[in-house]
Formats: sequence, C-alpha cells, structure tokens
Amino acid sequence: MKYSQLADVYRKLESTTKRLQKTAIIAELLKKTPAAELETLVLLLEGKIFPNWDASESGVAAKLILKAIIAASGESRERAEHEWKKTGDLGKAAENLLGKRKQHTLFSRELTVEKVMANLRKLPGMEGSGSVERKTQLIAELLTSATPAEAKYVVKTVLSELRVGVGEGSLRDAIVWANFGKQAGISLEDGEEVSIGNREEYTKAASAVQGAYDLTNDFGVVAETAATKGIRGLQAISLKIGTPIKVMLAIKADTIKEGIETVGVPAEAEFKYDGFRVQIHKDAKGGITLFTRRLEDVTKQFPEVVAMVKTHVKGDSFILDSEAVGYERKSGKYLAFQSISQRIKRKYGIEKLAEEIPVEVNVFDVLCYKGESCLHKPFSERRKIVERIVRGEEKKIVSARHIISSSEKEIGDFYKKSLKAGNEGIMLKKLDAPYKPGARVGYMVKLKPVMETLDLAIVGAEWGEGKRSSWLSSYAVACQDDDGNLLEVGRVSTGLKEKDEEGLSFAGMTRLLEPLIASEKGKEVSVKPKLVIEVDYEEIQKSPTYASGYALRFPRVKGLREDKGIDEISTLSMVEGFYKKQK
Ligand code: AMP
Repeated sequence: MKYSQLADVYRKLESTTKRLQKTAIIAELLKKTPAAELETLVLLLEGKIFPNWDASESGVAAKLILKAIIAASGESRERAEHEWKKTGDLGKAAENLLGKRKQHTLFSRELTVEKVMANLRKLPGMEGSGSVERKTQLIAELLTSATPAEAKYVVKTVLSELRVGVGEGSLRDAIVWANFGKQAGISLEDGEEVSIGNREEYTKAASAVQGAYDLTNDFGVVAETAATKGIRGLQAISLKIGTPIKVMLAIKADTIKEGIETVGVPAEAEFKYDGFRVQIHKDAKGGITLFTRRLEDVTKQFPEVVAMVKTHVKGDSFILDSEAVGYERKSGKYLAFQSISQRIKRKYGIEKLAEEIPVEVNVFDVLCYKGESCLHKPFSERRKIVERIVRGEEKKIVSARHIISSSEKEIGDFYKKSLKAGNEGIMLKKLDAPYKPGARVGYMVKLKPVMETLDLAIVGAEWGEGKRSSWLSSYAVACQDDDGNLLEVGRVSTGLKEKDEEGLSFAGMTRLLEPLIASEKGKEVSVKPKLVIEVDYEEIQKSPTYASGYALRFPRVKGLREDKGIDEISTLSMVEGFYKKQK
C-alpha cells in the first residue's frame, strides 16, 4: 500500500475529535487493505513500530532526525534548527523544510507502507561505531522520497510522537465494523451515531476481537485474523507461553462490606503486597520468562526469581500471576515499591543489586498449566493449582497469604493482620470467576486505607532558577482519556531531593528527561511522554487551566513507576471519581 494513503488517513483522523468518525475512517482503511499488509498497517496507524509487548524502541534522538532532515532537504543546519525552534515540533519542521525542496518529484520514488516499516524496524538493532550515520541514512532515505506531509508523519513515528487519536477502543470497534459490520447491521448515521441492527452478532464479534487482543496485545494480528479467519479464527487464538498476556485489573472498594458485595460470599481475601506484578512463563523446554504488567521482559533483571521458579514450582509449561515484593535482608521487613523500582530497569550490576534488594514472589493465580489455558476455570480451582505446584519458602516464593470467608469480621481481622505485616491492604476475589485479561471487571477488589495516588505521565518540564538552573525541576503531568489522549492535570515540583545519592532527585530526573526533550521554548520544554510518576496530592480541584479540567492541590512526586507504561496511567474518569469522592 502507498504510504500516501496512510498519510491521508492520519490527516483525516487529525481533523476530527469525534470518536465514531475516527472509527469509521479506520474501518474504511482496514477494508481496503490487503490482508497480508494489515499487521504493518495497523501498527503504523497506532504510531508504533513494534507491538506492545516487544520492548524494542527506535532509540533515535531528535538531533539525529534533524540531521536526516537536513540531508533530505538540502537546507543549512541553521535554517533547520531555526525552523525546529520556531515550530517547537520536529515533525512540523520537517514538513516545512521539505516543502521548500525543488523538483521533488524528479528524484523521489513513491513511499510504501512496507518500505517505511522496513527502514524503521532496522533502527533498534543498530549499535556501535557508524551506527549514527547508518540510522541517519535510513531515515533520510524515507524523507527523500516523502512528500512534506508524509515526512511529518514519518518523523513523528520515529519519535514515538504520532498521536492522531487512535485509541484501543476505536481500533477495536473499527476491526469489528470492517469485518463484521454487515452481519451486525452497523450503520453510521450522520457520522454522529451508530445503530446496530443485530445486537447478538455485534456482541459476539466485539468480544471475539477484544478477547483476541487481550491474549496477543497486537491489533495487527487481530485485524489480520479477523479478515482471513473470521470470528472462529479470533476465538481460536489462545495464549502462548512466552508471549505476555494483559493482566486482570482490580477495582477499588472503600469498605469490606462494599468489597464483599462486589465479589460475593464466600470470598477469597489475600494480602495485597506492595511490589510489582510479575507474570511468570515457563515453557515445555524449561525456559523461563518474566514480564511486568506493561508486558516488558524483565527476565534478565531477576535472575534469582528465575532460579526460584526452577527449584520451587512443580511442573512444566505454565503461566503464573504474582507480585514480587522487596524486603530488607537484615530485618526481613517488606519495603515499599519505590525501593525496588530500580531493579526493573537495571542493565548492569544485576547480581549485586539482587543481593542488596532481594524480592519475595507471592503467587496468586495461574493462567496456563500443563500447556493448557486456565482462563475459563473458576478462580477457586486456579488457586488450588497454585497451592499444589508452588513449594512455598518464605522470602523466596510462596502462594499469597489468604483466607476464604463469608464473615466481615474475620476479613476485617485479616485486613489488620496484613497492614501490620507491612502490606498495602487486601484483595478480595470472586471464587467462581474466570480470569479476564486486561479487564477491570470486579472479580478482584482492592482495599487499602490510604488515599489513592495518581500515576501520571510527564509531558513537559521547566529548567530551574539559580542553583537549580541545570536541572529540569518542575514537571507537567497528564492523565489519559478513553482514547489515550494525554490531558494535563497540573505541575509538580516537590517531593524530590536535591542531592543525587539520596534517591529520586532533580539531577536524576533531569538525566531521565533530557533525552526525551521534543522541543524547547525559553525555560519550558515539552518531552516525549515516556516517564510515569506516582503523584500524591492533598486535593483535586476543578480548573480551567489544564486540559483535563482538573488540577492537583499540593502535588508531590512519590516516585517513578518504571513498571507502568503510558497506556497504564490514571484515567480522566479516575481523576473525576476521586474528585467526587473527596467531597
Ligand atoms: P493497584 O495497583 O492499586 O490498582 O492494585 C492492584 C495491584 O496490586 C495488582 O496489579 C498487583 O500488582 C498488586 N497485588 C498485590 N497483591 C496482590 C494479590 N494478592 N492479588 C492480586 N494483585 C495483587
């Protein structure tokens, strides 16, 4: 497919904020695309080069792209830099600079979607000497053949900054409309409202598409399967050991009574450990892979967990769901998540760090056992499997502490016990529920005594004054709406240390943020949304200042959430919910 067709769709998507119109635009494109090209097309449509669960990143800095733009446009460095400063947007700058090129058509070949993807996918593998030149060349090659508008989109894709409002919801619906729209009798009236002729067909198709996505985390694969194999094909997609699955999420309850009402009695109550989620995969050959909740492979970072799984979990080919908590080696006391978060990203000195900050793995669920999916088994059965196969050893690997009870009083005592042991609270679980990947459906309810913090994306920052002038010291933070659009909720500049050695500091944050700078204006910079921080606050207020319509009063940085991706940050509806509750 010609890249110009995709660029045209990006443009259309940018020109509307209406979700249904976006869905219709995407559905049209999907219908037109040959099945073999769907995988690539859908990823690019999402602004991605690799599926969610693939950790590869283009690893290309804005400066390198600027070089490629200079090479492709023949403009001087000064002009190019000036254009970048003026627009504050490298994509826009590329468009303007390439627009000035003469005789564009004489030299260029027409870009295809495949060519763009092929070049971009070569970027992450390049390291070592000469790699900067080769990367520049790969991008320049694309820009040379691109029209100015196409160049803008290529640049934004490389920067992971392409945001045309294609959220999970609209993509899922578009796949349904494109492939099963006829059966379900879907029609779009005035681009404003859908009518569904056959609800049953629609529900069947929508849940098959969603289910396939939850297991593959790859809309490209889902779109292709839907087009070539239909609903049956989607339903036949199963979990695969070695490919991470979205984890099931919890909803919040304020009281034990409310929690029990949601999950029913008898209910399972478990300690809620304050660590990070680990999905443990073991294949038939004994290979073990560990994934975080954002589907990142962290096997290398936790060699001791791999060893424990080998020695302490019976059976081969399984997938376990667990929480890893850090503890102090001397006292055995549990540590808060923030103290172990550094282990997740660590690339060197891993063994030493594992020695200093050990973790205990608390297994609470099983998604696959003996190579067979357990997702449809009731939780009570899955939990029994966990107990059968995990040979528990404290401070290594255990099945999560639990009771089964119908008594509010008994669960209340268990809650107190959990808090006393240094945990965050308890989870209540529905005994007869299946495991729903990626869903927040009330099969799992969390109870914790403290006010909810928000996990927010840093989207901008400001250089400090005086002795802080070499640090980015104030951070613009954003939540997301249902389509993944980022909406600012305020600025935070407290909660960080000045000195580098004492944990999270201004210097440390500056090191993390500087490579993400997308544009600068005076002291203000905008950054690629990559970093997620946990933010504490005293109150949420309504505010016209920020795009979200809310502002945080007295926000404080609690720490980095390296285990969370941008698509996992707090949602606008959570912010609204907390706002209403505090009243
Ligand atoms: P929250 O992050 O506050 O929404 O709480 C849900 C998270 O608690 C899960 O994603 C897990 O990482 C964590 N967790 C800790 N203990 C448990 C447990 N026993 N069962 C399920 N999740 C747990």
